[in-house]
Amino acid sequence: MEEFDVVIGLEIHAELKTKTKVFCSCKNEFGAKPNENTCPVCTGMPGALPIINKRAVELCIKAGLCFGCTISHYAVMERKNYFYPDLAKAYQISQMVYPICVGGEITLKDGKVKRLNRIHLEEDAGKLTHISRATGTLIDYNRGGTPLIEIVTEPDFTSPEEVDEFLKRVRESLVYADIADCKMEEGGMRCDVNLSLKPKGSTILGTRTEMKNLNSFKSVTRAIEYEIKRQKEILLDGGKIIQETRKWDDAKGKNMSMRSKEDSQDYRYFPDPDILPISITDDDIESIKSEMPVLPQKRREIYVEKYGLPEYDAQILTSSKYISDYFETCLKIYDSPKKISNWIMGDLLKLVKGREEFTFPIEEKYLCEIIKMVEERLINKNVGLQLMNDVIETGKSPAVLAKENNLIVVISEEEILKILNAFKEENSKVVQDYKVQPEKVIGFIVGHVMKSTGGKANPAIVKELIKKIF
Ligand SMILES: [Zn+2]
Repeated sequence: MEEFDVVIGLEIHAELKTKTKVFCSCKNEFGAKPNENTCPVCTGMPGALPIINKRAVELCIKAGLCFGCTISHYAVMERKNYFYPDLAKAYQISQMVYPICVGGEITLKDGKVKRLNRIHLEEDAGKLTHISRATGTLIDYNRGGTPLIEIVTEPDFTSPEEVDEFLKRVRESLVYADIADCKMEEGGMRCDVNLSLKPKGSTILGTRTEMKNLNSFKSVTRAIEYEIKRQKEILLDGGKIIQETRKWDDAKGKNMSMRSKEDSQDYRYFPDPDILPISITDDDIESIKSEMPVLPQKRREIYVEKYGLPEYDAQILTSSKYISDYFETCLKIYDSPKKISNWIMGDLLKLVKGREEFTFPIEEKYLCEIIKMVEERLINKNVGLQLMNDVIETGKSPAVLAKENNLIVVISEEEILKILNAFKEENSKVVQDYKVQPEKVIGFIVGHVMKSTGGKANPAIVKELIKKIF
């Protein structure tokens, strides 16, 4: 079935992490009682006047900076007119002609560039809950007026795998930069998929369908696979694709026609006369740039190229900003990237396995102290792990606990000296060599001491003593 090219474009909505809604001062929070966070503005009362939330504009600019968009100096909020019960004023305040961010791109792992068309700011609608035919439908306007960004891509995608990677990259960046939580299960990030097929190699796009509000990575993939198959079958059968919005039913694993798809002109967009155009200065942009963290993609590059970590480690360490920040704090205390990575990936992550949100139960400085003890062979790895658990349990420092529990069993300097002196007498050749090129033989001598003490000497001390007496 290689007769068709698949063409996919995405519209991704993410709820912004602001304290209040985008055009009123109602709280922007998930999980409140129905209609608790509402006022005349966000329930669309006639005559109520919106005031734009500056932070929402800033977060939209920040999102643009994540993906290399051009930030507009002049942006306009427009009314998108349509009626739906979850949108009481019969228009959504959105952006059309002058969005805040234009262009931008994300490069996938295989080097393919996926272009953004724009990122704009808009408000979310309320939430309808259909109970039953008898009881009817309940409306909760808490979500109405929640600030959203909509990321619109160019039709650059050809497979569900590309879409999946792209969405994960978008989410990762938005979460890192503290723009949005992107909790898909709470509707914090949703994806609309526009999909069409065209004869292989053709430059003319086919008729597209739109699937709205897909709210998990898995359902996006399944919905795309299903829709490709559905359109293929119709086209191979000589039929025509109808431009429409189709609703994906995740439980049934199929989609069905919802309504014929409108084009943008059907919404009769026009500038909202209640909201002044937004003016964005270079200083505004610079100040938002200064609060940008290093994004995960860049961190992975640094971890691999500068710290010499395997790609696999870099991937896991950057899987959340928290882990990545933790790792980097450790690195400032104890500069041994691979050792720290091993402890975090192998031992710390095991402790929080299965939890979606977590903090590691041990402070960075204490973890580093333990790693250092193990590296200096003051304790072995198993004792180190035990010590970590004890630190977590008691909150005491590793040094204190090691002393209290007599964990550090090391050979005294005196005994090391005895071994070194004996070695010196029996190995005059090595002593000669040491005088000429100490760095060439010091390792050999340390090795001898470690061997004859069963690994219980502290190599740093051994080195110091060698330097003193040889
Ligand atoms: Zn309100």
